[in-house]
Amino acid sequence: MTTLLALDKASGATLGSVAATTAADVDAAVERAAQAQAGWAALTYAERAAVLRRAAAELGARAAALRELIVRETGSIPGKADYEIGAATGELYEAAGLASRPVAEVRPSNHAGRFSLAERVPLGVVAAITPWNFPLVLGMRVIAPALALGNAVVLKPSPETPLSGGAALAELFEAAGLPPGVFEVVQGGAEVGERLVVHPATAMVHFTGSTAVGRSIAATAGGLLKKVSLELGGNNALVVLDDADVEQAAMIGAWSSFHYQGQTCITAGRHVVHAAVADAYVAALTARAAAIRVGDPHTDAVGLGPMINGRQHARAAELLSAAVADGATVLTGGPEPVPYFRPAVVTSVHPGMRLWREEIFAPVAPVLVVADEEEAIRVVNDTEYGLVNSVVTADQRRGLAVARRLRGGMAHVNDATPQDEALAPFGGIGQSGLGGRSGGDDNLDEFTQRRWLTTTEVAPHYPY
Ligand code: NAD
Repeated sequence: MTTLLALDKASGATLGSVAATTAADVDAAVERAAQAQAGWAALTYAERAAVLRRAAAELGARAAALRELIVRETGSIPGKADYEIGAATGELYEAAGLASRPVAEVRPSNHAGRFSLAERVPLGVVAAITPWNFPLVLGMRVIAPALALGNAVVLKPSPETPLSGGAALAELFEAAGLPPGVFEVVQGGAEVGERLVVHPATAMVHFTGSTAVGRSIAATAGGLLKKVSLELGGNNALVVLDDADVEQAAMIGAWSSFHYQGQTCITAGRHVVHAAVADAYVAALTARAAAIRVGDPHTDAVGLGPMINGRQHARAAELLSAAVADGATVLTGGPEPVPYFRPAVVTSVHPGMRLWREEIFAPVAPVLVVADEEEAIRVVNDTEYGLVNSVVTADQRRGLAVARRLRGGMAHVNDATPQDEALAPFGGIGQSGLGGRSGGDDNLDEFTQRRWLTTTEVAPHYPY
């Protein structure tokens, strides 16, 4: 039996371990979930909601231990761990309310005497495949609404975060009294995920992760005619207009690019700045970046922790050095000995550079100077991704007008790119996702399917 180790990303210490799930055990987990689902869906909404509220209470009771686990297993500062725990709690409470939303609507019928109902029914077993960066909340964002609406869930977290992304969630729902089998966790890498995707009893695959893996899952699921929902990568932009308050813009810019070492799908990987404020903006952003302390967030009061692994560290270092070889200037920051990476500000970039075109997933802020608003919009929209963008301006109306013209599923005026709320329609377009949204009532469409049901008192007359 293979064992997966959960490591402290700063010190390398072992935090615990889980058994990797074998292919046969993945099948058994899916089959247990399929068996348990109908009984779970048959409970009253109040019974399902009560389990979700108890899970929220259990999360509260475990907050201190979970905080330490997230800090160490994901390498994040405590504030990010607190955000995850708070957001996961919010997901559970919103999902408890979702359980009692109307499950059907009466549709007008063109047939006299026909009662026509558009019902919402659960999909069955939802497979959730999640990344390592926000393991608790990105799992909960699927599990809570899917369960609320009568589905069973089989979760596969990233092998980087088997505890905060998997085992901790299993313990939470067990303590909350969820019937056995309704929520299963399987542990492992790509092969375990692939098994979940192809298993005939998983009705839907909800995937959060990289665009490359999302594309391969979509191809497999497409061949099987299985529903998929994809939350993928981004190459998000922060636009600073000529009327922006430069200090405020630099604060928003620093948070957008450096928050959690730049390792989120909603990190700003491109700063598009009007020439009128470019020098002042770059100076303010550089000063903020240089002042951030980097180190072990478990033992020190730092602003940034370690990179998730050596591979991500090496990739970001390579993107940065390739940009420098192509004429870019690094004003501050860059790779330190693994696992650390100081927040970097990079100028003299051009849109052909990989540093500009690809998702960097590290604390790097490349800045491109533009002559006017139209050029800013053109530059931002020149990407295959489409997750989130932000606009900073003194004129909110102007900001909204620009935000509406930016390619993406989400846009913010005068705030950072990393934003999420339980009720927000979160998601991307293009290479950032299939266009589905999670959050609020969008979860009804995500985790149920329609069944058309009619009943007629007297059958109509047919010709034969
Ligand atoms: P990843 O794509 O490497 O892995 C994500 C998950 O998929 C992991 O659990 C992994 O084990 C599994 N997996 C890998 N190959 C698989 C396969 N062939 N079949 C089935 N499952 C497979 O991503 P990551 O490195 O864990 O996370 C970083 C990526 O996630 C970034 O690109 C980031 O932008 C994206 N992300 C997107 C969102 C969003 O909401 N849009 C949120 C967070 C992260």
